Amino acid sequence: MVRARTGFSDADHSSVRLATLAAGGLDPPKSGPINPPVQRASTILYATVDEYMRRHDGFYDDVIYGLYGTETTYALAGAVASLEGAHMTVVTSSGTAAVALGLSTFLSAGDHLLVADTVYGATRRFCEEVLKRYGVSIEYFDPLLGGEIRSLFTPKTRAIFMESPGSQTFEVMDVSAITAEARPRAIVTLIDNTWATPLLFRPLEHGVDVSIQSATKYLSGHSDVMLGTLSAADESVYKRLKDTVGRWGNCASPDECYLVHRGLRTLDVRLERHQRNALALIDWLLEQSEVERVLYPALPSDPGHALWKRDFQGASGLFGVVLKTGLAVPAYRLCENRRHFRIGSSWGGYESLLVPAWPAPSRQFQPAPPPEQLLRIHAGLEDPADLISDLAEAFVMLSEGPK
Ligand SMILES: *Cc1c(COP(=O)(O)O)cnc(C)c1O
Repeated sequence: MVRARTGFSDADHSSVRLATLAAGGLDPPKSGPINPPVQRASTILYATVDEYMRRHDGFYDDVIYGLYGTETTYALAGAVASLEGAHMTVVTSSGTAAVALGLSTFLSAGDHLLVADTVYGATRRFCEEVLKRYGVSIEYFDPLLGGEIRSLFTPKTRAIFMESPGSQTFEVMDVSAITAEARPRAIVTLIDNTWATPLLFRPLEHGVDVSIQSATKYLSGHSDVMLGTLSAADESVYKRLKDTVGRWGNCASPDECYLVHRGLRTLDVRLERHQRNALALIDWLLEQSEVERVLYPALPSDPGHALWKRDFQGASGLFGVVLKTGLAVPAYRLCENRRHFRIGSSWGGYESLLVPAWPAPSRQFQPAPPPEQLLRIHAGLEDPADLISDLAEAFVMLSEGPK
């Protein structure tokens, strides 16, 4: 039985570059099928009682029962862990489950949780609708706070949840300044790293304890899978995460794990194209008189650019567009009847998406423009010239009104 590949040494990591790791893994097979087989199982058999009992003694990275994963699950977990530079990764049934289970792992009644004000909507709802009910006190913080976050610490502060860049408005956080304050006080730090993927930002190298991916997005890359990952900085964090995911009975399907593992092979080339297409669209958008601002930290004019340049290896394909006020139609009307851009939730697949953005009205910091002005674009893998002509057609409406 192949055991999960855990506990990579620093030497292992530095000897192979990330694009190579994503494409082929740290130790690609020399014989037999090149891809990990799909193992679907609930029951896992043992020839002897001794073996059965030994296996159930400490199961953290072993195949013992379908709920905890089969070899397909652990193959993906090992591959993601190697990209994140993690001790090991736990795979969950969705990105939302990864966020909820990551938070549940460390919080108890009476604890104080600090959450970036710009987190993904479902994360905020989990805090408001579930964690509060379980007696956790939630405080949202300005994502631009950096090390000043220490002024919000109380003796009960147990964890900090970050997302960078921020959902829908793309503020970049000074992650290492925050973890530098949290670590000495044993405050656990978690980050939703879905926008960048570990190829473009590696949170664990910046002192974060848990890096979360909605693998539904770029890791899978083809808009046909729901999956999440929790990557742990060390063994004790990993064991706590793995236990919690099991206690809640959360299980990632081996078929979905296989598909995400397959997606990893092309992650590096896809991200390169997503970024190139995003930049081509943004260049065009910035020339339009109706555009007030583009929210994308790779732009030198973006307020988060310096931090992004310091910490990130690139940018992905998701960005915001703020239109001027007083145009003939509200921004969201542009989304309809497009030839290439579709209207739909999620992102990170091959397809370009154009949707209205509405950050949580309850946000307290960094006020966001209203949906009449704010659009979210995911630049897919199409030819950018086709995407630009599609946008150009839409923009006619902004000056002339709908046809
Ligand atoms: C989509 C998304 C999630 C949730 O992931 P699902 O796999 O859709 O449940 C979490 N965080 C971010 C930033 C996302 O974009």
